[in-house]
Amino acid sequence: MPRRRSKFKRIWTAFLAAMPRKWRRCNYDVHVVPDDDDDGDPASTAAPLTEKTRHVDYVSAPTGLSSQTSFYSLPSSPNPSSTSLPELVPDELDYLDNIDEANQPSGPNYQFTAEDAAEAERRRQRRTASDHPLHEWAADIDTWLLELLRLEGRGEHTGDACPTCLDGLAEYRCADCADLQLYCGACTVESHSHNPWHRLTVWVKSHFRRTTLKNLGLRIQLGHPPGERCPNPKAAFNDDFVILDTTGIHRVALDFCDCTQKQQLPVQLMRARLFPATVTNPKTAATYRLMEHFHLLRTQSKISAHEFYQCLARQTENVEPQESADRYSALLRMTREWSHLKMLKRAGRGHDPTGAAGTLPGECAVECPTCPQPEKNLPSDWKTAPKGKSWLYRLFVGLDANFCLKRKKVSTNQVDPGLNKGYAYFVEDTKYKAFLEQFDDLPPEANTCHKHDAIKLANIKKVRETDTSGVGTVECTWHDMKRPRSVADLQVGERYVNMDYIFFSSLSHHAAQEIIASYDISCQWSRNLWSRLTAYGLPFDPADHRFRFLIPKFHLPAHQSSCQTGYSFNFTAGVGRTDGEAVERGWAAVNPFASSTKEMGPGHRHNVLDDVFGDYNWRKVRQMGPALLARLKEAVPNANEHQVAFEEFTEVLPLRNIATWTEMVTKWEDDPSNPNPFVATEPKVTMAAVRRELAEEEAARLEAGTLVACHDNMSPAIMITAGLELKDLQECARSETKKIGSHSTDKQRTDLLERANTLRRKIEAWFKIQQTYIPGVEALRARKLQVVKDPTVYDLPLLLPSAIQGSLSVDPSLMECEWRLRHAQAHDSLNNLRQHLRLSSHLYHFKDRFTRGQRENIRKPCNF
Ligand SMILES: [Zn+2]
Ligand SMILES: [Zn+2]
Ligand SMILES: [Zn+2]
Ligand SMILES: [Zn+2]
Ligand SMILES: [Zn+2]
Repeated sequence: MPRRRSKFKRIWTAFLAAMPRKWRRCNYDVHVVPDDDDDGDPASTAAPLTEKTRHVDYVSAPTGLSSQTSFYSLPSSPNPSSTSLPELVPDELDYLDNIDEANQPSGPNYQFTAEDAAEAERRRQRRTASDHPLHEWAADIDTWLLELLRLEGRGEHTGDACPTCLDGLAEYRCADCADLQLYCGACTVESHSHNPWHRLTVWVKSHFRRTTLKNLGLRIQLGHPPGERCPNPKAAFNDDFVILDTTGIHRVALDFCDCTQKQQLPVQLMRARLFPATVTNPKTAATYRLMEHFHLLRTQSKISAHEFYQCLARQTENVEPQESADRYSALLRMTREWSHLKMLKRAGRGHDPTGAAGTLPGECAVECPTCPQPEKNLPSDWKTAPKGKSWLYRLFVGLDANFCLKRKKVSTNQVDPGLNKGYAYFVEDTKYKAFLEQFDDLPPEANTCHKHDAIKLANIKKVRETDTSGVGTVECTWHDMKRPRSVADLQVGERYVNMDYIFFSSLSHHAAQEIIASYDISCQWSRNLWSRLTAYGLPFDPADHRFRFLIPKFHLPAHQSSCQTGYSFNFTAGVGRTDGEAVERGWAAVNPFASSTKEMGPGHRHNVLDDVFGDYNWRKVRQMGPALLARLKEAVPNANEHQVAFEEFTEVLPLRNIATWTEMVTKWEDDPSNPNPFVATEPKVTMAAVRRELAEEEAARLEAGTLVACHDNMSPAIMITAGLELKDLQECARSETKKIGSHSTDKQRTDLLERANTLRRKIEAWFKIQQTYIPGVEALRARKLQVVKDPTVYDLPLLLPSAIQGSLSVDPSLMECEWRLRHAQAHDSLNNLRQHLRLSSHLYHFKDRFTRGQRENIRKPCNF
């Protein structure tokens, strides 16, 4: 694709040219080279402003690695206050295309010119401080009010004679025509033959009252050009036809054509851009204008059909609502049919001889134009791309479930099967249900990580009133778009059988060779995925693909440490800064539909959600160009900055280590079954393990009859262990006593005293046993206590072997036992510390990103 590459390069160089200097400061040379280009900018010459630039030095010394951060003053950019980038306007896009490649410097060091700065400044249109439109308006409010009132009267149109025919009485004014003039009835009817659903008012002595064109005798003729009457008209049933339009609900007089050129009644309506509510003998229709308006309004503002209908009814009659005809159920049906028709039309089904019935699964979905789609947007040699390039053709998918999108037990699949039979985002229901029935009783799998919500929710009981507990989905995680036939209902929690089905259903549609699948419980879900696939017998061959399972970045800290390295986006090559959380963001746009869709029948709900997902995808496609450009603008300077930091850091590391580490990383990236170099190697010494070892050794010596125990119930190891535990309890007692203030209650003091007494009894009992193992220890303790005034329970010297070394002779085996236990205790403490640091860093990170408002900010410190 040479043409494509050269165009990209042109855009790239032009983009670098358009970057303000403040951004470019991240380039390679910025830390050492002051900005000395004399661009003649008056601002920079008049005021020699400077700004600070950070520089980090890494120094490798025999004692270890250290870093030093220093700040340099550099002349500031010509437009220091500008942090936003100029928006690209169509002219500029043309300019990008016309750049002469040969004359453009390549690479990131291209200089930002004065013209660029002036252009950026010109585009920044800001209000001046004195510009307060609301204040100005408030000062003039009475004039505006009077103008509103003026429209309630006849204004300057006070003449009685109709200005058109100069004969009739001028008493009718149209509320929807731009013209404020009053006309006679006959002229009003004539001028509205092309606008039959305008709202009309009639002047009655002192005010306007609502009336209709039907009352004035306007008849709408279908099947013939406007103005032409059918020789054999057939009035609608009961001569009462209701038309729903954006202007309101209109009762009209409508005649169908019943002459020789007649068509079916719905066809006659549709040729007049009226959408019939029923096929046989329609009595209601909606204008296409209304259908389009509601379709957009619903997906954009999440309005329900009921709210919309109420709005229409009030627009028609805001005083006595019972006067307007109730066509709510007709509107519901029409909107559903409309969105389905639009979906088929946009997917090109109208041009296919097989029609709607020939629609293939997923065919009507709006697909992500930037995700790899073989034979659509990939070069012909994509399958054989070299290793350094193959990541370009990776597919990133994310799985998740949403329990907001429930459905109550309303209607059934038999009554309301839905119009989309797996045509778009929801999988085909019959096959899916049959699959679930077949594999419903798969045994639950053992969990090897922490207890995650998704796993817990899998086992929740089905709620009695709900038929569907939520939906599961597979999305493209790069662009946050729903994939074709990748959404399905959940019956209880987030079970593997549901998620597996949609995962393989999604991948049967345009799956690349390399697939990065992220799921918040990937560590559990992916373990036995392939054996489950074999059990299901689904037509999907994993051998055609290379999979990598990761966990989205926000969810990862909740996993155990082995998951945090093995499933991290940060440690995976060729994934960029993907966070995998796109699925969660997608829910935010859909959740407002939860309240209306939970009351719908199964088919209706699928239709509405399919429509919503389609609209969401389409909006993404519309914004794809500007969004990707904005990300590129952010990515380039950041990539430069990180590159500089990385190179500076690498320079000071020993070459030998770099070679070893690089090799380890490359091996692991090629095959994740190799040792993971990012796993922190912690020695596996724990208190529990050492105690077990000691107990085993004692058991062996007991068997051999070589154990010398001076006490029946307490072996030497247990005596030392108990001593260490008592030491811990003493420290607890000491810190609790410190915490208790002078204002403590009687209850607090009593509790503390009771605990101290219990501890003292325990310690004294232990002293007796200790004396049998270390003769003379009591006398030593008595000597030590003599110098302590009023010894409390935590002042009692326990005199473990390490503390009496040199003063008394102690059995070396006791010394060794204490050393081993204390060594393990130190490791346990370090582990605790690591765990706490990880947790607190996660909480801080979470707080910085997601906590807003006083209430939350006050509560969070308590969590820390
Ligand atoms: Zn007239
Ligand atoms: Zn009008
Ligand atoms: Zn006719
Ligand atoms: Zn995509
Ligand atoms: Zn895990």
